Amino acid sequence: MPVALVRNTVHAVPDRYIAKWQEALELAAELSGAAAAVVVVARDDGFAAVAHAGRAAARVTQTLAHCADRTSHYCGAALDSGKALTVVDARQDPFWREHLAGNDGMFSCLCLPLVWPDRIVYGTLCLLDDHEPQDSARRQRIAGLFKELIEGDFRTIHLLRAIDRRAGLLENVVQARTEDLRAANLRLEHELAERRRAEARVVTSEQRLQDVLTVICEGIWDWQVPSGRVDHNPQWYRTLGYETGELPDTLEAFAGRIFPDDADAVRARINDLLTGRSRSYYSEHRMVRKDGTAIWVQDRGRIVERDAAGVPVRVLGSFVDITERHLAQQELACQRDRLEAQVVARTWELAAAKEVAEAANHAKSSFLANMSHEIRTPMNAVIGMTQLALHTNLDSRQRNYIEKAHRSAERLLNILNDILDFSKMEAGRLDIERIPFRLDELVDDLYNVVGLRAREKGLELVVDIAADVPLDLIGDPTRLSQVLVNLAGNAIKFTERGSVVVGIRRLAGPPVRLGLFVRDTGIGISDEQRKLIFQPFLQADNSITRRFGGTGLGLAISKRLVELLGGQLAVLSQPGFGSTFSFDLPLVAAEGQVRCWGDTAPAVLPAALHGARAGGRRQRGGLPRACRRARGTRLPRAVGQFFRRGLAHPRRAGHRSAGLRLGAGRRERRAPDAAGSAENGGSEAAHRGRGRYLRHRDRASRHPRPADRRDRRPAGPGRCTVQGAG
Ligand code: ADP
Repeated sequence: MPVALVRNTVHAVPDRYIAKWQEALELAAELSGAAAAVVVVARDDGFAAVAHAGRAAARVTQTLAHCADRTSHYCGAALDSGKALTVVDARQDPFWREHLAGNDGMFSCLCLPLVWPDRIVYGTLCLLDDHEPQDSARRQRIAGLFKELIEGDFRTIHLLRAIDRRAGLLENVVQARTEDLRAANLRLEHELAERRRAEARVVTSEQRLQDVLTVICEGIWDWQVPSGRVDHNPQWYRTLGYETGELPDTLEAFAGRIFPDDADAVRARINDLLTGRSRSYYSEHRMVRKDGTAIWVQDRGRIVERDAAGVPVRVLGSFVDITERHLAQQELACQRDRLEAQVVARTWELAAAKEVAEAANHAKSSFLANMSHEIRTPMNAVIGMTQLALHTNLDSRQRNYIEKAHRSAERLLNILNDILDFSKMEAGRLDIERIPFRLDELVDDLYNVVGLRAREKGLELVVDIAADVPLDLIGDPTRLSQVLVNLAGNAIKFTERGSVVVGIRRLAGPPVRLGLFVRDTGIGISDEQRKLIFQPFLQADNSITRRFGGTGLGLAISKRLVELLGGQLAVLSQPGFGSTFSFDLPLVAAEGQVRCWGDTAPAVLPAALHGARAGGRRQRGGLPRACRRARGTRLPRAVGQFFRRGLAHPRRAGHRSAGLRLGAGRRERRAPDAAGSAENGGSEAAHRGRGRYLRHRDRASRHPRPADRRDRRPAGPGRCTVQGAG
């Protein structure tokens, strides 16, 4: 079998395989009669005899130790070639003869390679002799035997390696097992230590628990349900006035101390706990102490252990004396009952007082209403008579006296009307009508009532109505007119320069509403004043009363009226820059064909509005500062939007001609000034205006009354002059 010698790999051959050759070498030397038998193996630095036998073995190994060139020795040469080497007589061989001089005197040899199962030659077994072999045949036989022996070595090596592998595996298993055992051991030790610590902790906590149970202010009980045994801590006994252990450890002993009246309830609660009807036991009941006195206790417990079938086995609970708390609660309950009784009595008193006050108020309002009515009748006579007197021939002094008397009477009538309205509202007797009416007539009426006053003050009065506002409506024209006249009258009254605009818009819905506003460029109202002015009999401040007079009732009445009409009245203002009062109303158009303001040809408009100017462009520019500031005021959204769109810029407040510039779809009507009225055939208008003014001048005629309305329908020219003419 060809083998290849691989250097430096024989180290992998374990020594114990080499050592087994020693005995074989000795046998080989003896059997063959060879001078030396040697096993030579390769080393990094050459080769070496690792086992030897025979009389010349020492000599041979010494030579080998100093043999630098392996090929110069039989053993080395055989090792290098990896083949069997037989030299019968080296002296006859030219190569070997050359090497004999430095040799160890051996001149015959038989070298057999020792081959590892992976075909690596790891050494040679050499029989060396220093003379010619006597019996060469015998030696050959021995060599053959050794060959077999060497081949047998393969099997042995295989076997040993298998055993080694097996042993290796076993060793691995043993090692793994040993590791496992070591780890398990460690774990056990750790668990043991932990257990010891836990035990120590349990002992400590038990001790502590005992200490706590001894000193705790609550009595503790521990009930073994099946046996009926109940263990108690010392406090439990102390609470009932006993020494520790003085009562038997039984449930009966506890039950025997329950106040007789409470026993059934306590038993029922315990039963609820055991049968699962309640999750815990809680009871406040009385217990009888050793000295016979009764105390209130709070007793509570829970099931802490059950058997496999879920039946309660152990219940743990606590028990505390709550006598003081109970007495305090009883006292509190008594006090609460007393207080409640007082509250009920006081409520009755207050209700009775309220009824009395309401009755008094009602009586007052009725009285005021009746009185106002009674006074109005003669007052109307005074106004009528003075007015008639003014149309007679009077000298200037008489005219002056009667004019003053007439004006005062009208003012007084106006105050009476306000008081009458207010009283009616207070008494809940002010009714709102729902009748068809014409908006243009209403506007004309307003225009006639306040126009002359505006002209007298040199103010521009603008009626600004959007084209899509319907003219035929259903509602209460008298009350709506009253509100507008009041707001416009105020606007004129509190404005010295600039303009007053009365505007009406159709607000987008749903529901579709009318938005109305009266804007002026007057003195304005501060934030503080705004809080007062809607309250009855209150004015912005005292100086107003001195400068302008008035009762402070107009806005209170207007606000209530707007609310009764289904809207909300609001104001935005800045002192010095004018005010805008605005409100919204439900828009209920009359049935049938409804005309809008934009559809109305000037020819069919009421006469008082003839000659009004129309046209212009849409108002531009951002929101005035005053309005931005006032945006926080609560207004209905649509009203707010419409109001903000319609507010004049404060900077224009002083300009006499600075009315609104209007969109093409809107018509604007301005009070003709003195010259304008003349130009527009205004003498009649002026005359009519004065007639109305005479009737409605100043506050005395700001509120058209249902009764008055009959007399001053602005239906046709001359109507007012008739009135004026008496
Ligand atoms: P009166 O006009 O009789 O004083 P009102 O109730 O109509 O009573 O008005 C209350 C107050 O509100 C007025 O006294 C005035 O201070 C203030 N006020 C009303 N309208 C305006 C306005 N357009 N500009 C400035 N202040 C106003």
